[in-house]
Amino acid sequence: MSRIVMKFGGTSVADLDRIRNVAQRVKKEFDKGNEVAVLVSAMAGTTDQLSKWVEELSPMHDAREYATVVSAGEQITAGLLSIALQDIGIPARSWLGWQIPFKTNQLHSAARIEEIGTEEIIKRLETGTVCVVAGFQGISKDNRITTLGRGGSDTSAVALAAALKADQCDIYTDVEGVYTTDPRIVPRAQKLDKITYEEMLEMASLGAKVLQTRSVALAMNHKVRVQVLSSFTDKPGTLVVDEDEIVEKQVVSGIAYAKDEAQVTLVGVNNKPGIASELFTLLANENINVDMIIQNETEDGKKTDVTFTVTENDLEKAKNILKTSNSVEYANLMTDRNVVKISVIGVGMRSHAGVAATMFKTLAAKGINIKVISTSEIKISVLIDVEYTELAVRALHTAYGLDGEY
Ligand code: ADP
Ligand code: ASP
Ligand code: MG
Repeated sequence: MSRIVMKFGGTSVADLDRIRNVAQRVKKEFDKGNEVAVLVSAMAGTTDQLSKWVEELSPMHDAREYATVVSAGEQITAGLLSIALQDIGIPARSWLGWQIPFKTNQLHSAARIEEIGTEEIIKRLETGTVCVVAGFQGISKDNRITTLGRGGSDTSAVALAAALKADQCDIYTDVEGVYTTDPRIVPRAQKLDKITYEEMLEMASLGAKVLQTRSVALAMNHKVRVQVLSSFTDKPGTLVVDEDEIVEKQVVSGIAYAKDEAQVTLVGVNNKPGIASELFTLLANENINVDMIIQNETEDGKKTDVTFTVTENDLEKAKNILKTSNSVEYANLMTDRNVVKISVIGVGMRSHAGVAATMFKTLAAKGINIKVISTSEIKISVLIDVEYTELAVRALHTAYGLDGEY
């Protein structure tokens, strides 16, 4: 007998037939004698619709009310799935975030889980109830609903699995696992049997939305055994594991892309010591995360051009800060939203040379210009024009030998 957490994403619960299908999958695990907690997302498209209504009503809305509205989708699926389970003879009950409770901080639209109450759930699991829990939501100290950021049900699932000391955490979605890249844009992408926590963390944070980044960090810290698999087939999925569980290490395991980047260029900045510090402190003070950075001096060394990227959401704010600042002087400010960050990821990079050279050569052969580059131990990222996204990802996928049968 095992204690397992099963999480079902939006497409897996998109309509009543799919909810019935989920109920059957849960029944299968329950009938084996397992203790089963189920985390559910909102039905596909629901969260988008709810958040659109909030935006339309007021772009500068109160984040606490935003959380109240967008968390509603998960309430519906938790109730519906419990009913579907009861209908096939499984004792089931639903819980909302606040009823568990998932205690979070007060960042209402991107809250972090601080503590999870497990006493009642454990009692219920032990007495044979399937516990259906609404993902994506929690409650803050000031007694308000919070949400965990888009894709946050993954994080609810992993956090609950850690708190319950579950034997496994299965994330059911609309693809058969984690692939070498997004299978929707590269049909030759291959499903990975295993991926390391570290690689998955990079893949997620660099744009592969198959798992929310925070869920991977939590899984890594608490050693939760996460499997990503399809709710529509019975094939084994991808296990997220420690590096020593992987026998054959690839140099590059995956390629990710992120279109929500925007580029900012300051031309003719006065080149004096401390200027970078001043510029980036200004942005940091307003909670703007800067990602990639490149700086070029003019020939005489008197001026410098600085290019960096921020998320598209932060672009207007960053522009305003730079336009109104009197500490950073520059001749011209340019911005570009039509960019994409493409990254290649792999723990094997630590011990292999030439990975970056292959990337640059491949892009050059396709006539794709690289605007900014950044690297870390296990990844290389480049910023290019968004129109080349698919071309670049496919060409790199081939260049690193990742193409499978099609
Ligand atoms: P869910 O609603 O189940 O949480 P998501 O839409 O959040 O599902 O995540 C699954 C999607 O992630 C897939 O449909 C796929 O298009 C996308 N994706 C991006 N990169 C990858 C990757 N490397 N492997 C698998 N899926 C990926
Ligand atoms: N329903 C939320 C979203 O669409 C949370 C999730 O699905 O993980 O972002
Ligand atoms: Mg998701």
